[in-house]
Amino acid sequence: MTTTNHKFELASRPVGLPTRDNWHYAEAPVPEPADGEFLVKILYISLDPAMRGWMNEGKSYVPPVGIGEVMRALALGRVTASKNPAYAVGDTVTGPFGVQEYALSNGASVNKVPSVGIPLPVFLGTLGMTGMTAYFGLLEVGKPKAGDTVVVSSAAGAVGSVVGQIAKIKGCRVVGIAGSKEKCEYIVKELGFDKAIDYKTENVRKALHEACPKGMDVYFDNAGGEILEAALANLARGARIVICGAISQYNNTTPVKGPSNYLSLLVNRASMTGMVVFDYADRYREAAQEMAGWIAQGKLKTQEHVVDGIETFPESLLKLYNGENTGKLMLKVANP
Ligand code: NAP
Repeated sequence: MTTTNHKFELASRPVGLPTRDNWHYAEAPVPEPADGEFLVKILYISLDPAMRGWMNEGKSYVPPVGIGEVMRALALGRVTASKNPAYAVGDTVTGPFGVQEYALSNGASVNKVPSVGIPLPVFLGTLGMTGMTAYFGLLEVGKPKAGDTVVVSSAAGAVGSVVGQIAKIKGCRVVGIAGSKEKCEYIVKELGFDKAIDYKTENVRKALHEACPKGMDVYFDNAGGEILEAALANLARGARIVICGAISQYNNTTPVKGPSNYLSLLVNRASMTGMVVFDYADRYREAAQEMAGWIAQGKLKTQEHVVDGIETFPESLLKLYNGENTGKLMLKVANP
């Protein structure tokens, strides 16, 4: 049995894109669970755009990661020792275990992974936090109706790819915005989107106007910045904008760029609503059951982008901000 735990601690707060200097790769003995705790051997670590925000000082929807603390991350692992009667050795669990090889937990925010023949990484992606974000953000905030035109940005990513597919399941016309020819082909040919716009080579405002001649009924925003502004310029009357994220702004060294044309909301009797997935935690099970059904029926495709090795964490995280991932980005830390 290994006795050493490797982990990434936050060493300093980044300015712009994080670098390896912002991290301390530390080594410590694998801890022993106290009464009420259990030890998890981590197999996969979820890499999420929000991690950049957690590295900043200041108030957000969760407190910042402290200097010297293990970097916050969702992960999937197996219980290897337990002094908590609710968790047995061998249980597979997801939870906020951090960027490390072993984690202690008391069960807070931990979910057990059922053995139902679905590959484990899917429980960090489509059946994990990002899938829940797509499901509740689209259905509860975007409120699409059959026949609506739904537009989503970062459309080949973890959240966006699921948003577009659920919108298709609900009978909508779906337009995705993504950052390469390959990603645009992927969302149309593999995932069944009706149309794709490459924001790196096309004029997004004009392309949206052509793709949505009657305007968009739902815009699911993962990107923010200029793409949000282009979407605001193409709304249908009564449109709903879901503010899920704004990845184009996370590494800014200047203030976040907001849309100058927000009065389009007034003109179009439209709304723009922020959502945080954790507000739906008591309904994750219901959503996972429905999405697992769609996966089984072949209506919802899952895609994971798995990078090997915890030691690659600082560089692997940057793939999100450079657009190098397709589907859910995660690290593989150990063999299941
Ligand atoms: P993801 O889409 O799998 O990966 C990020 C993608 O963002 C990249 O692949 C890249 O795709 C795109 N991107 C990077 N820089 C960009 C830029 N400057 N302009 C436009 N696009 C850019 O990540 P995810 O985990 O699914 O997260 C998507 C969004 O959802 C993020 O904004 C995240 O913060 C948000 N989120 C919110 C919640 C919530 O509760 N509100 C929960 C989870 C995630 P391209 O190649 O297409 O550029």
